[in-house]
Amino acid sequence: MNIILFGPPGAGKGTQAQNIIKKFNLLQISTGDLLRKEISNKTITGKQIEQIINRGDFVNDNIVNDLLKKVITTDLYRNKIIFDGYPRNINQAKSLEVMLSKDSQSIDYVLFLKVNKVIVEKRILGRIVCEKCNKTLNEYFDTEELENHECGSKFFKKRKDDNQQTIINRYDEYMKQTKPVLDFYSSIKNFHEIDGSQKIDEITRKIEQILRV
Ligand code: AMP
Repeated sequence: MNIILFGPPGAGKGTQAQNIIKKFNLLQISTGDLLRKEISNKTITGKQIEQIINRGDFVNDNIVNDLLKKVITTDLYRNKIIFDGYPRNINQAKSLEVMLSKDSQSIDYVLFLKVNKVIVEKRILGRIVCEKCNKTLNEYFDTEELENHECGSKFFKKRKDDNQQTIINRYDEYMKQTKPVLDFYSSIKNFHEIDGSQKIDEITRKIEQILRV
């Protein structure tokens, strides 16, 4: 089963992916994570994309597609993928079709987490990621868990692109480029729109219902 989790930055894609991977034996691929890894490993690609990501602009399709292709056709990932943050434009959606069909794979579900800009701002400004277990927490909403988190606080990190100006840019960029992708997928039979402003557990429950049918 391959799934696309779709929605603006801060919609909760990463959090939901983490919640469902174990239950459905899936693996998350976040293109944002793949790109940030290039930056932290100081690769040539990493140097090319650092400023782009810090501004909240989209990275060039070829760079993203090449990184992705290396992962999705491996035995480990094949037919077990939750795509988080990809595809983000029509070009990527078409490339994904080609990459998957060449490898006898397809997309089984497209889940769209719908949230507005006000919620996105609140969620992103408070976002903290544990670099050890990859869990996303929020400094405004998860104060208790932040104190008692099982990995401790030394792996907590704020993302450099989680600031007010970049958030607005990322949301606007998303609306401009990703809306056509939504239109592209919304006519397929396994497309589901989910209210992403609900509580995390409620969203997870809805996703589980959809995937269990
Ligand atoms: P994310 O972790 O999904 O919020 O992505 C963080 C940043 O990485 C985005 O603001 C873009 O600069 C870049 N990025 C992630 N995925 C893609 C993609 N599919 N296409 C282009 N840029 C991307």
